[in-house]
Amino acid sequence: MSEDGNRTLHYDEFYGSLPAMRARFDKRARRDAFAGTTDEDFTAWRRESRRTLTELLGLDRMEKAPTDARIDGRVTIPASDGAPEIVREHVVIQVEPGIYMTLYLLIPERSVVKSGSVNAPQVYLALPGHMGAGKESIAGRAEIPAVADSIRQFNYDYGLRLARMGYIVACPDCRGFGERRDEDRRSDSEEDFLNSTCFQLSHMAEGLGETVCGMCTWDAMRLMDYLAERGREEGWQTDAFGCVGFSGGGMQTLWTAAMDDRVTIAVISGYLYGYRDSLLVLNSNCSCNYIPRLWEHFDMGDVASLIAPRRLFVQSCRDDHLNGPRGLDNVREQLDIVRAAYRLFDAEDRLTHDIREGGHCFHPEILDALL
Ligand SMILES: [Zn+2]
Repeated sequence: MSEDGNRTLHYDEFYGSLPAMRARFDKRARRDAFAGTTDEDFTAWRRESRRTLTELLGLDRMEKAPTDARIDGRVTIPASDGAPEIVREHVVIQVEPGIYMTLYLLIPERSVVKSGSVNAPQVYLALPGHMGAGKESIAGRAEIPAVADSIRQFNYDYGLRLARMGYIVACPDCRGFGERRDEDRRSDSEEDFLNSTCFQLSHMAEGLGETVCGMCTWDAMRLMDYLAERGREEGWQTDAFGCVGFSGGGMQTLWTAAMDDRVTIAVISGYLYGYRDSLLVLNSNCSCNYIPRLWEHFDMGDVASLIAPRRLFVQSCRDDHLNGPRGLDNVREQLDIVRAAYRLFDAEDRLTHDIREGGHCFHPEILDALL
């Protein structure tokens, strides 16, 4: 008996809820999955599904506001190893009345423009996952020791990598991350600095009919509005955007690309799997993942299908624990749903599934395909 066992009561048997919840999922899930046969059917389904999701995400409750953008810092990152000099701006934009997004905008001195191709983005969103101090790891601020460790662990610096490739890259703090942490995690401790207030935000959102996924999707849309405004002044090509994210950043990329056609290239790493295994059986994931009533309507593959036939890269690691107890089988089933949608548009070649060895980690080689 453990030491604690002397102070508590041991139960031989427990009466938990998980088996019944799994059965309930099987009975109720995916009622609104695509059931048509043609690309016209699919286009109609997408319109209807986006309406449903707008409500479930709480996007219809978000309030528009002028971006009121302010650039309040500018740092030059010198050219190195063939990569161009990059100006890193610190920008603050308003995303809803009184709600502000902080971001770094990485502007390489020679930015890539693929002329003649309307859908080839010059500007990328690089969205952050958990435990990387929001935009700090994505923008590659390895001079901060806690951020350096996080970059080493997950290859989190994909924003900086994209800028070195010549793209203009926005690396935002999503809600609850970095400078946007709420009251409970504002200390300078390493744990608070790297972490987020998704749990608190999610509690605040739920009673208001909002969701963290919805907030992040809304914010990414407003960020594209700002980049389009800015692009008009600067002569950037902003009718199309690329979007890259790992883990929680993959979640935001999934939702942003699913809901907004301005995203013409999406790279989702470490975040595409079936809800039953990955969010119901594995039920200790971050609160930001959970959207009331979503599973009754769609599985994650259905949501990702909304991206078809735009360019989609999905990266999965074979031993990523977030894939759930059945591992890659739980990923492949969802990819099959997505692939069926691409097939309707005769566009299977626009969907890439990149499988890597090892655990939960971003593999930057996937970015080479964007050159
Ligand atoms: Zn979270």
